[in-house]
Amino acid sequence: MRTLGMIGGMSWESTIPYYRHINETVKMERGGLHSARIILYSVNFDEIEQLQHAGRWDEAGAALADVAVRLESAGADGLVLCTNTMHRVASVIESAVSIPLLHIADPTALALKKAGHTRVGLLGTRFTMEHQFYRGRLQQEHGLEVLVPDANDRDALHRIIYEELCQGIIREESRSVYVSIINRLKNEGAEAVILGCTEISLLVKPQHIEGTPLFDTTSLHAMYAAHWALDR
Ligand code: GLU
Repeated sequence: MRTLGMIGGMSWESTIPYYRHINETVKMERGGLHSARIILYSVNFDEIEQLQHAGRWDEAGAALADVAVRLESAGADGLVLCTNTMHRVASVIESAVSIPLLHIADPTALALKKAGHTRVGLLGTRFTMEHQFYRGRLQQEHGLEVLVPDANDRDALHRIIYEELCQGIIREESRSVYVSIINRLKNEGAEAVILGCTEISLLVKPQHIEGTPLFDTTSLHAMYAAHWALDR
């Protein structure tokens, strides 16, 4: 089994389900007491969040590249960056190490295509919804058409992620905001919606939404990583 190097803590609230999903997948595949080989480096998210909101992506990239180098030296065979947003600096991380980074958008796109969806809604931080690193990969490398909410809705999603979900706060009113936005995307033609932020599935679960399949990047990424680790 390969060893996974997890770059976590962004936020730690969502690193917990990653750890669980990876181990549950290994257990499902191998049974008994089998569990994943994992090295976790959990960052201080406050430092990363300040760099994000100041637009200092180069420094954020350098910080995560440094973590990646440490994980590689500690024996990781592949990297799992446990956040959608910080894939903005995926190429900086990739060029710092010789082990692969298992990109979060790829298992998500594969699952959507396998289910037959081509026109999809994307929820996440403003960075994920507005910058090209994520939508571009879904569109150019996977041929998906990506719809994002309007500016007011993007602000609401972003605020709830940082002020609530990343701090472990789950509010019914915020769930209603997410449900309304998902329904608007559906009315605009989205066949399915990507929960493109690793905390959203802490708030919104399939039972809260009627008629729109949700694709949770946390569980899809974690399961993909677990299968990759087992594939040797
Ligand atoms: N975990 C979130 C994501 O998947 C947001 C926190 C962050 O900015 O990394 O995008």
